[in-house]
Amino acid sequence: MSSLDRFAAQKLAQLAAQDLRRSLVDSAREDGLWICRNGKRLLSFSCNDYLNLTHHPRVKAAAIAAVQTHGAGAGASRLVTGNHPLYGELEAKLARLKGTEAACIFGSGYLANAGIVPVIVGEGDLLLVDELAHSCLWAGAQLSRAKVQTFRHNDLAHVEALLRSHRAQHRHALIVTDRVFSMDGDLAPLAELAVLARAHDAWLMSDDAHGLAVVDGDNPADLKMGTLSKTLGSYGGYLCASQPVIDLIRTRARTLIYSTGLPPASVAAASAALDIIAADPALAAAPRAKARAFTRALNVAEAQSPIVPIVLHEAAAALRAQAALEAEGFLVTAIRPPTVPEGTARLRFAFTAGHPDSEIVRLATIVREKILT
Ligand SMILES: *Cc1c(COP(=O)(O)O)cnc(C)c1O
Repeated sequence: MSSLDRFAAQKLAQLAAQDLRRSLVDSAREDGLWICRNGKRLLSFSCNDYLNLTHHPRVKAAAIAAVQTHGAGAGASRLVTGNHPLYGELEAKLARLKGTEAACIFGSGYLANAGIVPVIVGEGDLLLVDELAHSCLWAGAQLSRAKVQTFRHNDLAHVEALLRSHRAQHRHALIVTDRVFSMDGDLAPLAELAVLARAHDAWLMSDDAHGLAVVDGDNPADLKMGTLSKTLGSYGGYLCASQPVIDLIRTRARTLIYSTGLPPASVAAASAALDIIAADPALAAAPRAKARAFTRALNVAEAQSPIVPIVLHEAAAALRAQAALEAEGFLVTAIRPPTVPEGTARLRFAFTAGHPDSEIVRLATIVREKILT
């Protein structure tokens, strides 16, 4: 064994001893709901495909048509020759939906956050980040070289205290938060954060990866980031903001400049998905209504989004719960550290428009009787 292999094997053994080793499982998604895994057909509550659009006939047809016309790949960075005509159309739709002057599409949500934050703040600036913000906002924070201050989850008093003690010593300040927290399903107090930001001459950025279309409400953030890969059933990330901000991002964001443009099919699929959502307002309300039916059946705090966590604390307990649900035909993957803080391993249920009500009732009964007892 080489020293590198020895290092990898030892590290893996350590992680396995803590129930933190991870592995990939072939998961054949038949549609937006059912998955074939290990030879078993399971009803998935672990897809972020909230409107089941990954398999919608019109979304798939748009992707196929884009391949036929524009090819399988973009061929270069968007700033070189990869900016196929489908981009402009989708950016205009996103800006209209979010009520901003302009939008910019990135290769993924992760690339968007890793690229945006370092353009907006740098050395000598202040960056306030919610402690439960998504990993890729932290990646952007680290790349920015700004002075990072973590605030307690959704704690406005803490944000204010940090602004009071640190704002004056820094040139610019940016507050970043998920709009819908990906592992807890709760919402950031964006209106109140915007008031604080204004009072202290700071800017506000929201990550709406899990909220687009399925969680309504005003978003006063200056920078509205999100993804094409969840509700829209495709792949890619976006930022909606004012024209000068978008122009600066297009000029300076390293993850946009030095990475190939999205395949035309991804852009066309997201664009078709937005049209489907616009034509059927009831569709986007369905996932949260299904999540609420589940939280009512369990008699736990009402769901604020399509995401419902059940915290089981130890990683081993979360893995056992996943196995118990799998035996009943449900796929709910255990979420373990470092995706969630130490001691808060959980089951994370993601509800989609297509989940049958009867299965939600059966799921709640099993969770009540086999997991919460
Ligand atoms: C999924 C997710 C991302 C990353 O988006 P991708 O397009 O999958 O890279 C960013 N932020 C949050 C909050 C997410 O949940």
